[in-house]
Amino acid sequence: MTTGSFVFDQPASRVVFGAGSLVRVAEELRRLGATRAIVLSTPEQRGQAEDVARRLGELAAGVYAEAVMHVPIETARAAREEARRLHADCCVAVGGGSTIGLGKAIALESSLPILAIPTTYAGSEMTPIYGITEAGVKKTGRDRRVLPKTVIYDPELTLTLSAGISGTSAMNAIAHCVEALYAHDGNPIVSLMAAEGIRALARSAPVVVSEPGNLAARSEALYGAWLAGTALGSASMGIHHKLCHTLGGTFNLPHAEVHTVILPHAAAFNRDAAPEAMRITAGALGARDAAQGIYDLAVRLRAPLSLRELGMPRDGIERAAKLATESPYRNPRAVEYDGVFNLLDDAWHGIRPS
Ligand code: NAD
Repeated sequence: MTTGSFVFDQPASRVVFGAGSLVRVAEELRRLGATRAIVLSTPEQRGQAEDVARRLGELAAGVYAEAVMHVPIETARAAREEARRLHADCCVAVGGGSTIGLGKAIALESSLPILAIPTTYAGSEMTPIYGITEAGVKKTGRDRRVLPKTVIYDPELTLTLSAGISGTSAMNAIAHCVEALYAHDGNPIVSLMAAEGIRALARSAPVVVSEPGNLAARSEALYGAWLAGTALGSASMGIHHKLCHTLGGTFNLPHAEVHTVILPHAAAFNRDAAPEAMRITAGALGARDAAQGIYDLAVRLRAPLSLRELGMPRDGIERAAKLATESPYRNPRAVEYDGVFNLLDDAWHGIRPS
């Protein structure tokens, strides 16, 4: 990337990072001027949310453990109602993108501040991007009100994230970095973060997957996720995220797994149109070629490699290619039907990009 003219518009969050940093949650909540927090989680992470509520003591107004993937509007409405009923003045979101997404749905309407405690590598905590699903269609937007005011990254909370989700979640984070490197509105600062994010995640994720209890690797992966989330929040998305949103919404495929399968093929698709981004990505992966390096990393993480194994029907490729080319995100290479069809066909079979 050249250092021409650019806009660096990064809304800042306060970040508290490190193993054991959850002990500071009450102090951080007070710092936001809040006294009645609604603590959010998925049903599976209720235990972690209750632990946070215990640490908050009288600063916790209640636990709401109903977050689910993709923030259905009904879930958002019920959570907003619960926040009102509790007279909450802050949302504490303990979990991955689904839980932080629910906090954002509350903040979008109420402007309540969010204190996020991420437990996956999805990166939502660093972005002003929200998504709400209504009648099967996920609408996303950007609004500064939904950007968490404070983020506590405590890698100890990620020790319980399974090897499978850890691997695909790390690939999801790497996808944010790769797309930020070729975004039309990227800049040299975001590129630094993206490259360092890829380096940290590619180094740590294989260790996390083979030794989920390795705290040093967990810390490095969470650091990478922070950088990846920042990159996602600061630059636009391209063909990769467009395809993942289309496939997730249309075929109800799992979020992080779709990112894992599509990324090597999206990188191959953009290889010639974004040579500098590919050079940086390959370097950060320690590979000769970005697309192949990403694919090889997915193999090492024992992650899914094909849309077929995620349950996508073969005859869905045509529909997905049509949908993705009808209203494409801006991308280095022109997004045309034939190229996208071939990309999806390769991803459906899970072949190593040539
Ligand atoms: P998730 O939040 O849905 O979590 C997946 C599962 O893992 C859940 O059952 C959760 O309870 C469990 N889990 C999470 N952390 C755990 C831990 N440490 N220990 C044990 N179990 C744990 O998954 P995700 O991939 O983080 O989030 C996906 C969602 O986030 C999607 O809806 C996606 O669109 C959204 N997202 C949004 C942004 C944004 O900027 N707005 C960015 C990335 C992802």
